[in-house]
Amino acid sequence: MLEAQGGGCFICGRPAREDSSLHVDHDHSTGAIRGILCFSCNNALADFQDDPTLLRKAACYVSANSPGVEEEIQLARRRALSLVGSGTGPGAG
Ligand SMILES: [Zn+2]
Repeated sequence: MLEAQGGGCFICGRPAREDSSLHVDHDHSTGAIRGILCFSCNNALADFQDDPTLLRKAACYVSANSPGVEEEIQLARRRALSLVGSGTGPGAG
């Protein structure tokens, strides 16, 4: 899975460091593995209560003046769906 993600955190791409390992991230409602994240990104998801709506709103908020961000979001979405296989995993909508 880590190789499929490019060797680093799914979200930010940072590789594991000596002082901070990567974490296997689970969907807390189903227990299914979603991907591998760094400590910071894993904590950020928890801070947003794993709520896709809040995370999208946060992304819109910080990217209001950053054209091109939407393309990166769509690319990340396709990559995430490829990790879960069929693309019908939880939160896919
Ligand atoms: Zn990260």
